[in-house]
Amino acid sequence: MRYAVLGTGTVGRTVAERLVSLGHDVVLGTRDPAATLTRTGAAGTGAPAVPYAVWQAGHPRVGLATFAEAARTGEVLVNATGGRVSVEVLTAAGAEHLEGKVLVDLANPLDFSGGWPPVLDPANSDSLGELIQRTFPGARVVKTLNTMNCAVMVDPARVAGEHHVFLSGDDEEAKGSVRELLHSFGWPPASILDLGGIQTARGAEMLLPIWLTLMGRLGHADFNFHVQGA
Ligand code: NAP
Repeated sequence: MRYAVLGTGTVGRTVAERLVSLGHDVVLGTRDPAATLTRTGAAGTGAPAVPYAVWQAGHPRVGLATFAEAARTGEVLVNATGGRVSVEVLTAAGAEHLEGKVLVDLANPLDFSGGWPPVLDPANSDSLGELIQRTFPGARVVKTLNTMNCAVMVDPARVAGEHHVFLSGDDEEAKGSVRELLHSFGWPPASILDLGGIQTARGAEMLLPIWLTLMGRLGHADFNFHVQGA
């Protein structure tokens, strides 16, 4: 399968590396490939300490292209951009390149403009997952994996015992294919909880304040939610 992972941050890189290890073709999407390759410092929230070019040299099988070119060639798209810029990124990617494709949305609409802790925007009566689905009705949006650290997303065994990953989306077939992707990452069938339509992304996104508090309290990110009785 050809994946376009939109976003060159820690999450995009982590997901891309895992997809390549599973034998997929992967292109990372960025605003300006030349600028990304020459960037020496950190860029973005929680930006990786390793410059992109250094990371790329160690991952020669991952391609790099503009958001539009990546989205054009990708059969399945992954949104791994900051939630506050995701619509802008997907607009740059081109609605025509999203048409009919599964769009795995693992972003969180965290607004850091007021400092720490960040707030969610949108929240309560809307969510990023819904906003993306509304803005790009031709895309088959599936919200998942946003409720854990990216290392856990692609290697759930990092957290001992049973724990869960959520799925939200209006397209059952798209959710089925994302389920298969999650299995391939190592998520057992019983660990995948389908919450329902894309509106249920509100709840998954609104777990972020408690997730961030727990990370601060525990001092690490190798934890996840377990729903007893699921
Ligand atoms: P990030 O720093 O939030 O985003 C990096 C990407 O955003 C880059 O590709 C960058 O483009 C693009 N970008 C930044 N500002 C932009 C702008 N003004 N216009 C267009 N594009 C812009 O990346 P991340 O830390 O890897 O997180 C990605 C997403 O995953 C976030 O929504 C985050 O909340 C979510 N998430 C993270 C974790 C985790 O473990 N960190 C866990 C769950 C969910 P360039 O490539 O051109 O620089």
